[in-house]
Amino acid sequence: GPALLFVKTSQGKEEGRRFYACSACRDRKDCNFFQWEDEKVSETRLAAREEYNRSHQPSFTHRQNVDRYKNFVLLPSSKRRFCQECQQLLLPAEWEKHSDHQFLCDITTAQLKSPSQLLYPLENKKTNAQYLFADRSCQFLLNLLTDLGFRRVLSVGTPRLHEMIQSKASQEEQFGVRSLLLDIDFRYSQFYTEDEFCHYNMFNHHFFGGETACETCRKFLCEENGEGVIMVTDPPFGGLVEALASSFKKLMAMWSETEKGGHDNKEMPMFWIFPYFFESRILDFFPSFSMMDYQVDYDNHALYKHGKTGRRQSPVRIFTNLTPSMIVLPEEEGYRFCTVCQRYVSSGNQHCEICNSCTSKDGRRWKHCVLCKKCVKPSWFHCNNCNCCTLQKHSCEKTDVGCFVCGKAGHKRSACPSLSRA
Ligand code: SAH
Ligand code: ZN
Ligand code: ZN
Ligand code: ZN
Ligand code: ZN
Repeated sequence: GPALLFVKTSQGKEEGRRFYACSACRDRKDCNFFQWEDEKVSETRLAAREEYNRSHQPSFTHRQNVDRYKNFVLLPSSKRRFCQECQQLLLPAEWEKHSDHQFLCDITTAQLKSPSQLLYPLENKKTNAQYLFADRSCQFLLNLLTDLGFRRVLSVGTPRLHEMIQSKASQEEQFGVRSLLLDIDFRYSQFYTEDEFCHYNMFNHHFFGGETACETCRKFLCEENGEGVIMVTDPPFGGLVEALASSFKKLMAMWSETEKGGHDNKEMPMFWIFPYFFESRILDFFPSFSMMDYQVDYDNHALYKHGKTGRRQSPVRIFTNLTPSMIVLPEEEGYRFCTVCQRYVSSGNQHCEICNSCTSKDGRRWKHCVLCKKCVKPSWFHCNNCNCCTLQKHSCEKTDVGCFVCGKAGHKRSACPSLSRA
């Protein structure tokens, strides 16, 4: 889909130079598309790019994959193979072509129902960054949203949540929750119909399936007059918050536009799962959001997993526009309700009388700094040079790099004047 407009800044220069680059791949190695904003593109280069794009399309369309799946499930289990190298379900006629590839045999219905276990996670940090929810966290999210009465979940980059909902719905008749998965990982099109999965880029709000896919999403959001729907998203943490926020606003607008009378300016309910250190960035774009203390855990994330020696802390939280007091966190995991803040907090999160809130972001007990007039991390101290609290080890010089948004020096992107204008 469309590239994003970035700006390159060089030290000492007022204006940066603007260029287009791939919205989804933050690493040139994954996608080398680069074009200066004011660059004249020759016919030859344009043709070459088009040819490149054509030759890099997936080997089957979503439609074809749906048909293939229908044939696949009719096969006896002895004929159900999955090529691990191509990450593809194989029909018997195709075995030959994959004969020197590693494959799995006897694919069961259970395996087909949990593709996130069958497919290997694309861990490439800069592009897919596929970190799958630990079962406990996924179960928690699902219970939370069913307890809140939601019946439709727009799963944006949350394949594991999607699959948990899908398999529950197929097993328990009275389980009335449905999910639509939007993800850039096209491998999922092998397992879900066009009503269950849309190939989607959340950095530019691009539906690869065109207007039809976009319409599928709109219909899903607007069923039952838009009632009972929530969006849950867990984007790659390296992603640009402004790009994500702009896409999410468009998804929210899809929900509010088609509705026939009645949300009275309400926003579509949303869970945005992201590390706590992005709090201020997210609030810049979604002032109605607040951050929950719940620590989201992952299966394949070495850093965030539980250690043998007890619990390692995950920095990943839930940001939501729902009333915080409605988000009930499990007491058996140490969360408690703060009656002053009217929300559930981590056990280590002490209510600060001066700030009049439970101020810890990372679950540890924070300390109040009178000079900064706020609570800070336990490991920080107040530096009189910098006039703020920071790590003991730091250099006192201020760095003066240009703003990421407009490229001018003197302010950071969160304070960029062109943002408020836009
Ligand atoms: N914790 C989630 C997975 C989050 S990992 C779960 O267990 O369900 C991030 C997800 O976002 C992956 O599924 C990845 O394929 C998807 N993703 C990465 N870049 C994307 C993009 N540009 N657009 C849409 N989805 C993207
Ligand atoms: Zn193969
Ligand atoms: Zn409190
Ligand atoms: Zn305080
Ligand atoms: Zn200092």
